[in-house]
Amino acid sequence: MTKLGFSLRSKLTISYIFIVVTVVGLISLMANISVQNKFQDFVIHKQNKQTQEILEQISLSYDENLDWDTNYIGIVGMNALQNGLIIKVENNNNQSIWSANEHNHGLCQDMITNMWSNMNQYSGKWEGRYQEKVYPIISKGETIGTLTTGFVGPYYFTDEELIFIEALNHLFIGIGIGSLVLAFGLGILMSYRISKPLNKAANKAALLSQGKYKEKLTDASNTKEISILMNTINNLSDALEHKEQLRKQLTQDVAHELRTPLTSVQGTMEAMLDGIWEVDKERLTSCYDEIMRIKRLIGSIEDLSKVENENALLHKENFDLSNLLIRLLNNFESELAEKDISVDYDRRSVYLNADQDKMSQVFNNLISNAIKYSDKGGKIQIHISDSHKKVEIRVKDIGKGISQEDLPHIFERFYRADKSRNRNTGGIGIGLTITKTIIEAHEGTIDVESKLGEGTEFIIILQR
Ligand code: ADP
Repeated sequence: MTKLGFSLRSKLTISYIFIVVTVVGLISLMANISVQNKFQDFVIHKQNKQTQEILEQISLSYDENLDWDTNYIGIVGMNALQNGLIIKVENNNNQSIWSANEHNHGLCQDMITNMWSNMNQYSGKWEGRYQEKVYPIISKGETIGTLTTGFVGPYYFTDEELIFIEALNHLFIGIGIGSLVLAFGLGILMSYRISKPLNKAANKAALLSQGKYKEKLTDASNTKEISILMNTINNLSDALEHKEQLRKQLTQDVAHELRTPLTSVQGTMEAMLDGIWEVDKERLTSCYDEIMRIKRLIGSIEDLSKVENENALLHKENFDLSNLLIRLLNNFESELAEKDISVDYDRRSVYLNADQDKMSQVFNNLISNAIKYSDKGGKIQIHISDSHKKVEIRVKDIGKGISQEDLPHIFERFYRADKSRNRNTGGIGIGLTITKTIIEAHEGTIDVESKLGEGTEFIIILQR
């Protein structure tokens, strides 16, 4: 049973949102913590500075002769109270000179309550308490008294500071929510853009499995991997379509090739059995020839399927190609003599690392074709050139040649340029298919150049 999972689109959307939320969340959290810490440092620093200023102002207000200027201290004290500091000034005998609590106890209590509620509003976990700090007041190098500051600590926010830090928090939350919405939108958009062509590719692959090759994937994608995938599927589709056509063609051709000789044998036999024709040597020979033709056809089909199946099984060895060619040319001696064909081959040792039997099959096909499609008095040229990287072998004849329409097809199975003529030559259009299959198994190439009435040249290039 197929296990159904999440669709690619949902997975991409979820992953994208997860990544963006995690990244934005972490950045917001870190920025928030860092800003809060910096702000607390700033507030503590500001409060210390404020205390130092108060100390300076009080010390400056002291005059040895006129004593303390309580009016001025009162102004400084009330100003400090506005900023959350409750101060008390005492002389060296611990006698109170000025005290905010004594001056306006109610206002001091209101201020403490306000600070307390500010800090609790800022953080539910705030663990502050009312605390006091005592500083000596120094004038002209002598201690003249003490300043006691009371505040809600370890630090406290004034109303303005609280408004500022809360606005900052709201900004962070806003950025977080905005990013989430953006991530969601972009996630859906991006996953749609990636999954749409992939869905199309999947549908196309499903069509391919049903043997429907016509429809092509046309959507251009600007994602490199997706456009490679689409091109590959289109190429696969073309290749499968071509294979399918070849398969149909093969079945048709095999049926056709078998029917013709079988019908001929059947007709001759029936006529002889019915006593219409006499059983004589000539008619039996004709039946025999047709049976041999069927045998050759079956043998060629077997050869082809063997070569196609054994592609991976090459028995490579180092051998001298010129020895192989000389041996083959000797085998064709009687055919060459019969058609008075001359061979131009400048023998020279050229070593190849290849499957010798299969190479023998290749050159056997090419030489046999060159003889088959040459007229009496023809000429065959075999030319080899080599470098340290590759070997090029050319087999050329000045025979009948191949028309431009037939030329692109001659390596296909059962393709014969002139079917009726080839029936007489015994060709069934498989030799070149086998030849090409063998050369490609050796990672080489085979090309053909030909002109009708002028001749044909096959060019094989093999890597060393
Ligand atoms: P066949 O058994 O019919 O010769 P091949 O696969 O060897 O099959 O060749 C395919 C077709 O290519 C031939 O039927 C013939 O029409 C053409 N051909 C091959 N070699 C030559 C050549 N040297 N000269 C002219 N035509 C050729």
